[in-house]
Amino acid sequence: MQHRARKRFGQNFLTDSSVVSRIVNTIAPMADQLILEIGPGQAALTWPLADSGAELVLLEIDRDLASRLTTQFAARDNVRVCTGDALKMDFAELTGGRAFRLVGNLPYNISTPLLFHVLQWGTLIDDMHFMLQKEVVNRMAASPGGKTWGRLSLMCQYHCAVTPLFDVPPSAFSPAPKVESAIVRLVPHPRPPVQIEDFRSFEKVVGQAFSQRRKTLRNSLRSMIDAADMESAGIDPGARPETLGLAEFALLSGILESKEQ
Ligand code: SAM
Repeated sequence: MQHRARKRFGQNFLTDSSVVSRIVNTIAPMADQLILEIGPGQAALTWPLADSGAELVLLEIDRDLASRLTTQFAARDNVRVCTGDALKMDFAELTGGRAFRLVGNLPYNISTPLLFHVLQWGTLIDDMHFMLQKEVVNRMAASPGGKTWGRLSLMCQYHCAVTPLFDVPPSAFSPAPKVESAIVRLVPHPRPPVQIEDFRSFEKVVGQAFSQRRKTLRNSLRSMIDAADMESAGIDPGARPETLGLAEFALLSGILESKEQ
């Protein structure tokens, strides 16, 4: 039976076989690897991934699609289907604590919380390849100083090297999304590029600074950090958050952490 795409699950299925081949060639799956696919849907990427001989764990929220996948891949002993919400999943449990590669044409309506969720398992993940809205990929890969630099760029780049790979037009999907898409590769850093003692302080400072991105740091961080302390750390309290890089936010989180102790 034909599946009707469910908007609430962000279902835009890939139908362009040349785009599917390009994505899978870029991922280059190998037989000895464990790959977790988020949102396999109608299995456009899943079939070629499974054909590589890699061990596949499929995580799908839509029960109808999950049951169809279970039937379709019943004869493949390298494929396991799990039904559930990726936002609530313990990925270490799903993969038995083994190192894995993560792939997914992600549901665009939850892409940012999903990225934050998966980054928690960075130490277990070899690499990630995602299809996302192009605008989101631009923010993930942005550099300080521009309009797209913000919380998402800082969080992704603290954990990973971010490489935008190629764009995918709406015509490659059914139903066609209203926006351009892009493929991005994330490779977790073996060691973080800056030292952050308390990640929660970092998240707090970044979240607060960018919640009012037109305000100066002096104003937006007033309730957390004194302007004098910023100056002593070499940070201009009159600066706007988009001009600061990872290293400066690490310094600010260090000040906050020392205050809260
Ligand atoms: N991989 C397929 C493709 O490329 O054609 C489908 C991609 S579609 C954009 C997103 C898929 O993610 C859908 O199958 C949807 O049901 C599934 N999905 C949506 N939210 C999810 C969640 N929270 N956890 C797991 N899967 C989810």
